[in-house]
Amino acid sequence: MDKQSATLSKASEPPAPSNIANRPGTPGSAEANGPGQGMLLIRIVEAKNLPGCSFSDKDPAKLPYCVIEVDKNDLVVPAKEALNGIVTWQYRSHFDVSRQCDITLSVYHKTAAGDKMLGSVVVNHNFTDQNLNDGWYALTSQDDGKPAGELHLQLVFKRAAKKPMSIEDFDLLKVIGKGSFGKVMQVRKKDTNRIYAMKIIKKSHIVERSEVSHTLAERMVLARINHPFVVPLKFSFQSPEKLYLVLAFVNGGELFHHLQNEGRFAEERAKFYTAELLTALECLHNYDIIYRDLKPENILLDYTGHIALCDFGLCKLNMKDGNKTNTFCGTPEYLAPELLINKGYTKVVDWWTLGILLYEMLVGLPPFYDENVNEMYRKILSDELKFPDDMSSQAKDILRQAKRLGRNGPEEIKQHPFFANINWQKLYLRKYTPPFRPNVASATDTSNFDTEFTSEIPMDSVSEGSALSQSVQQQFQGFTYQATQEHLAGSLQATGSLIAPSRLGGALPSNRPTQPLRK
Ligand code: ATP
Ligand code: MG
Repeated sequence: MDKQSATLSKASEPPAPSNIANRPGTPGSAEANGPGQGMLLIRIVEAKNLPGCSFSDKDPAKLPYCVIEVDKNDLVVPAKEALNGIVTWQYRSHFDVSRQCDITLSVYHKTAAGDKMLGSVVVNHNFTDQNLNDGWYALTSQDDGKPAGELHLQLVFKRAAKKPMSIEDFDLLKVIGKGSFGKVMQVRKKDTNRIYAMKIIKKSHIVERSEVSHTLAERMVLARINHPFVVPLKFSFQSPEKLYLVLAFVNGGELFHHLQNEGRFAEERAKFYTAELLTALECLHNYDIIYRDLKPENILLDYTGHIALCDFGLCKLNMKDGNKTNTFCGTPEYLAPELLINKGYTKVVDWWTLGILLYEMLVGLPPFYDENVNEMYRKILSDELKFPDDMSSQAKDILRQAKRLGRNGPEEIKQHPFFANINWQKLYLRKYTPPFRPNVASATDTSNFDTEFTSEIPMDSVSEGSALSQSVQQQFQGFTYQATQEHLAGSLQATGSLIAPSRLGGALPSNRPTQPLRK
């Protein structure tokens, strides 16, 4: 993907996938190759009748390009030549398929005023069919839905071999994040060449800290949620020492990184991120999951500038409306008062943290920040919010109401005048042009990640220490194999206390987030 192609607007994207759980081929282990898991070969052959242009050129700078998107894995393919109105690609690419998903192809034209989408098509491929599908697909204009030429494609799906996946199937490219659990690395899958983020977790660490259930919860949430603003899980597998989560690599960087660079965001930008996050949290709540760890470090931007929520390590499952839990967890700046008074809390804590995040984006600091964590807790419980003079009255009002809004569900937040100019359906379909596009040069670009990590040599360390007993290993079964509902429900009763030290405890706000503390 070259620089120019990487910065194209995705405002024109076709509808994002819906949040359907329990689809066939839900990502799981390589061992549990369900229907539809395997490799998809897509060959873009040529296009004809593209609107408004009579391409006849060999100059690559003037040729159109095609963006292929398969389950949030994007590939930009420049055309090779154009002659007499026929644009030729003759380009083969491979994609990993781990669940039923749409394949979107969009053809763009480079103009002096920026890249313009000529037309797109969403291909619904049947991932049980292993025959060659060769045909012309009608492109439609994103503006008016009118015909916009045709694209000649060849598609072949090959089911994955029933062999366990391992770290050997990947080249390790860069370290992009690190914590007490292990590392997050940018990796390339050797057979398809696709780039992913791999979160590596040491089993012994999570056993020592009684974290097995949280880790299984993380994998389960990632596998079941399919939402336009949640990072998708592609695979999960394990070795005797470690657990591996393979996720789409979201290369625009953490919201934390951008907030740090810019100090604070303009209101429309903060509103856009808050709104996309609201729909992601709403989706989790619909599945009775509380997220509990909303903060700028866990929010990524994709290369087009849309939100991708990551890190489901503190999720609490089976939380129906009104159900209360007591686990003291999260990050101090973002803790809701009801969590602090230890009388049980509900899903509503996520709306409180969303309010805190909105404040931090608008002002540059969370509202109740104090170097002394106990003082911060006192402020959260009793202080009034203070607003800068230039904040709009709607923003002040929604923040003042953050304590109450959401008690009757997310709809009352969406209806607040602050969001009056948001069309929620359009937002969900990713049809808004993001207010900011991260600078991303290529699919492997890691310049939006901290050099503290990316300068490290990427390697999967050999785990020292005693081997885990068979009974302990058994607890991890659900990580690799598709666990049944009952099994998950039984194994995901999270206990204990997980509270991350304040990330603003020192120099402000450049400190990296620290790992959750365990009781
Ligand atoms: P946990 O809270 O589960 O112990 P953590 O906070 O250390 O873990 P994550 O937040 O999941 O772990 O990942 C650490 C960092 O790695 C993230 O803040 C982000 O910068 C980077 N990262 C994680 N997933 C991805 C991804 N899919 N694409 C790009 N970067 C990612
Ligand atoms: Mg995190």
